[in-house]
Amino acid sequence: MSYDVIIIGAGVTGAAAARELSRYRLKVLVLEKEAEPAFGVSKSNSGIVHAGTQNPPSSLKGWLCVEGNRMIREELAADLGLHFVQCGQLIAVFDLADLPELETIKAEGEALGVKDMRVVDRAWLDANEPNLGPEVKAALLVPTAGIISPYRFVYALIENAVKNGAELKTSAKVAGIRRREGGGFYVEAGGRVYTTKFLVNAAGLRADEISAMAGAPTFTITPRKGEEYLLDKKREHIANHIIFPLPSKTSKGILIIKTSDGNPMIGPTAHDTGDKDDLATTEEGLAEVLAGARRMMPSVSKGDIIAYFAGLRPVAGKDFIIRHESAAPGLVNAAGIQSPGLTAAPAIAVMIADILKKQGLPLEPKDQFHRLRQRTEHLFMSSPEEARRLIAKNPAYGDIVCRCELVSAQEVRDAVRHGATTLDGVKFRTRAQAGRCHGGFCTTRILKIMQEELGRPVTELTKRGPGSEIVKDERK
Ligand SMILES: Cc1cc2nc3c(=O)[nH]c(=O)nc-3n(C[C@H](O)[C@H](O)[C@H](O)COP(=O)(O)OP(=O)(O)OC[C@H]3O[C@@H](n4cnc5c(N)ncnc54)[C@H](O)[C@@H]3O)c2cc1C
Repeated sequence: MSYDVIIIGAGVTGAAAARELSRYRLKVLVLEKEAEPAFGVSKSNSGIVHAGTQNPPSSLKGWLCVEGNRMIREELAADLGLHFVQCGQLIAVFDLADLPELETIKAEGEALGVKDMRVVDRAWLDANEPNLGPEVKAALLVPTAGIISPYRFVYALIENAVKNGAELKTSAKVAGIRRREGGGFYVEAGGRVYTTKFLVNAAGLRADEISAMAGAPTFTITPRKGEEYLLDKKREHIANHIIFPLPSKTSKGILIIKTSDGNPMIGPTAHDTGDKDDLATTEEGLAEVLAGARRMMPSVSKGDIIAYFAGLRPVAGKDFIIRHESAAPGLVNAAGIQSPGLTAAPAIAVMIADILKKQGLPLEPKDQFHRLRQRTEHLFMSSPEEARRLIAKNPAYGDIVCRCELVSAQEVRDAVRHGATTLDGVKFRTRAQAGRCHGGFCTTRILKIMQEELGRPVTELTKRGPGSEIVKDERK
């Protein structure tokens, strides 16, 4: 119950921090209020590994984004067995008079270290992005941008951190923090009290509340809602790059987003809301997203949309807040992690470790750090030869549970064995239930497998934690 570092929040920031700290001889605990990691902001985003453009050269988030992008491309995706696709991004202009703005974005990106950008003309676009509409006149090509599955990124980071000795406690909401005499904190979560020398606050939308609880009410989080609309997989090849319009002051604009799982997405909107739980999509949001996407690609239609969601960016001013709080010695805040937080997370984690070291935490490397994580098999990503090889090795890979997304019984079992305890946890890890039928065909099969693997009655299984049970026990 006594730790060197407690991290609050198992989103991408907390998971990356846990993995980074698990390199060292430290006792590290991650406390997460939800039933599983990645159920906060990190589950509802575009999954873009941003290159770093569209951030002021003086910003912390700009530098951390460029470094996070490099780390994911050059090290992490391979080390953690993640499917990262470096598809590149295009920032499109509808008027050649806006070309100087593209040159400014390019110069600002270069100042941050973004490489190999160039402005491409309409002839290049016709050859490489044939579905673009006639309004698009030119674009800035940014080759280092890519796509990744945001949830699988978080699961891989936390799994690897746990393999290296970090502890994770889910359904453990931090309800109270008290300072200890002589330094450190008592942290009350899930009915227990833990002690720690240092506290890392990676609580996303609730980071302001956690910081205040620890004695540093130094900032406020304003949620900025982003609505996203997922298109059918039959539109998988609608775009070859992630396509952005020229950005506005508060947002990167409505994008056409390739995703690493195949379904393209359109969105997100960017509107401040006063409610940290407001995840509703709206008619206005849909209209805004469709209009924005269709201006760049007129063939996008409402009938292509198979699912939608909203995410809330945790905004605390213009930049990330990553600092030690002198008002609460031992507290390191990683707050206001809005976009591009998914990309920047690995670099944020290194920065957190540096701050902790400066505050007196000894960072002695472990004799053995397990850098590598074995890739999880996914039929939908496999070639026919790879699928045949998998099925020959284990026939359960040929037992298809989710027909929309081609997910086998073995993949569902693997997901549970890797930590999924809820239907959403299985969905985020495997894509089963994420297709056009939304689980209409596969939910009962998945519940049966979960029941077998977890050894729990079906009436205790939930969609996303207590209160979202699927099967009612009539005897109660
Ligand atoms: C619509 C949208 C699109 C985006 N697109 C991109 C993109 O394409 N690329 C990119 O780089 N970034 C993107 N982002 C930003 C990115 O998603 C976030 O920066 C990132 O996910 C933030 O991660 P986090 O770990 O800081 O927060 P979270 O993922 O929210 O994690 C915080 C965790 O803390 C837990 N928590 C809160 N309070 C407590 C408590 N009291 N006790 C215990 N646990 C607690 C929460 O349950 C949560 O799991 C997007 C964001 C949105 C909303």
